[in-house]
Amino acid sequence: MRIESLPPDDVADPPAGDATLRPPQRLPTDQRQPPAPLIDRYGRQVSYIRLSITDRCDFRCNYCMAEEMEFLPRAQVLTLEECLRVASTFVELGVSKVRITGGEPLVRHNVVWLLQRIARLPGLRELVMTSNGSQLERFAPELRAAGVRRLNISLDTLQPERFRQITRVGDLAKVLRGLDAAQAAGFDRLKINTVMIRNVNDDELIDLVDFAVGRGIDISFIEQMPLGDVGHARDDRFFGSDEALARLQTRHVLVPSAESSGGPARYWRIPGSPTRVGFISPHSHNFCDTCNRVRITARGELYPCLGSNGAVPLLPILRAHPLEEEPLRAAIIDGMGIKAKGHDFGNQMAAPQVLRFMSMTGG
Ligand code: SAM
Ligand code: SF4
Repeated sequence: MRIESLPPDDVADPPAGDATLRPPQRLPTDQRQPPAPLIDRYGRQVSYIRLSITDRCDFRCNYCMAEEMEFLPRAQVLTLEECLRVASTFVELGVSKVRITGGEPLVRHNVVWLLQRIARLPGLRELVMTSNGSQLERFAPELRAAGVRRLNISLDTLQPERFRQITRVGDLAKVLRGLDAAQAAGFDRLKINTVMIRNVNDDELIDLVDFAVGRGIDISFIEQMPLGDVGHARDDRFFGSDEALARLQTRHVLVPSAESSGGPARYWRIPGSPTRVGFISPHSHNFCDTCNRVRITARGELYPCLGSNGAVPLLPILRAHPLEEEPLRAAIIDGMGIKAKGHDFGNQMAAPQVLRFMSMTGG
């Protein structure tokens, strides 16, 4: 199979500034209902959305995707205007943080057009993004200027050959140049995300922390989750946070910190360094009780829980009601009713029950 280094994004969006890209008509501020907070059956308030703006990617990370992937046809993917409507409606309903993700969000044409508009939504506190870094050399200054406050950049290894094996096609040097560009662009915070994979990169956890400390940026280690059939069982590759922490403590003094970046990561500090070392531990330290987020796929499905198959399709509603907000609002509020109490990833490592790839749901 030949994989293009940057697969064409055939999702056609009008160019930035196109007059046809108008948001639906909105009521004047004084006639709007006060925001109804999005609260689920277990009393958890949703204040954070992760919006996947494409299922495509220029990498094929072997824990995330199968080698042969079929991507969605353009008609099934939210247009940028629809992405903006979804984000805007969530923000009106009380969401204060939006993460743009994918697939690789920077392979989506005119992504900056969308970011500029989401960043300006009244009530939004923070616009952030997760990227594999491959396009950051080009995009970092534009993202910062558009209003993206923080970036998470995925980096599982510092060894070029290993990087290529994990991503199947990626070029580590390009990602490191992207990281340089992001550091120069002056984001509020940068964080490396590392998925821990036994016998693949577990010998590099200390090197990765040293790398983050050397650059004065944060790093979070993620336990692998059983999402999608990637062609191999994941149970023998699982590497847990506790073992990682113990390994890091052989090199560094790590002081537990009560800090939070609004997500599930638990943080440790290294005295004398600005670097925070985080662990995202869906298996070993389940964080569902405090879950504050929902996800929207590139296909416009609202998934209230990453680990469950329950979803509300928003795309038909967006297209049936291009000028009305109420049906979309109602569908989103209804979606809170199916938010699962928690996930059960621990028992699914050999055979995933969630068949969506992470690239589909948005990490
Ligand atoms: N392409 C971008 C990137 O890689 O940062 C954004 C999308 S990616 C799906 C978001 C995050 O999910 C990445 O940090 C990636 O490493 C992580 N991820 C993907 N598949 C995963 C899995 N099965 N378990 C845990 N994390 C996963
Ligand atoms: Fe692409 Fe990100 Fe998935 Fe890797 S983890 S294949 S970069 S979407």
